[in-house]
Amino acid sequence: MDTTSVAHPAQPKGLHPAKLTRFKRGLALAQEHFEEITRVAPWTWSVPSATGSGAHTVNLKTGTCPCPDRTPAGEVDKHVVAAKYVKSKTATCSGCGDRFRHRELVEVQESLTYFEGDLLCPECWAGSDAGVL
Ligand SMILES: [Zn+2]
Ligand SMILES: [Zn+2]
Repeated sequence: MDTTSVAHPAQPKGLHPAKLTRFKRGLALAQEHFEEITRVAPWTWSVPSATGSGAHTVNLKTGTCPCPDRTPAGEVDKHVVAAKYVKSKTATCSGCGDRFRHRELVEVQESLTYFEGDLLCPECWAGSDAGVL
């Protein structure tokens, strides 16, 4: 068989491999340091550095990160990816205002203090009059 004439299988369309790698590094960072990635102000998240020294303050509104990793145009900084990931996996407790994983939060059913559909962390829920289905 003349291998030179064999066409390569079509590359799957989608993310450029380098982009995927940076994106994957961000996801890995998020999973590894989930509890350390915290919202410090509106749109502002603190993400620990992958090397373990210090943290970077990411702005999710502008999608910017002050870390020294110069992200090429068209790619997303891995700390921004990590912050976005944690943001998507968590929600704010209507009681204490801290963020918790969705599965830890209880949805308010009947309460004089909270609105129906509000989310409460187990501690706030236990100390409230909120019923649960
Ligand atoms: Zn960064
Ligand atoms: Zn709470």
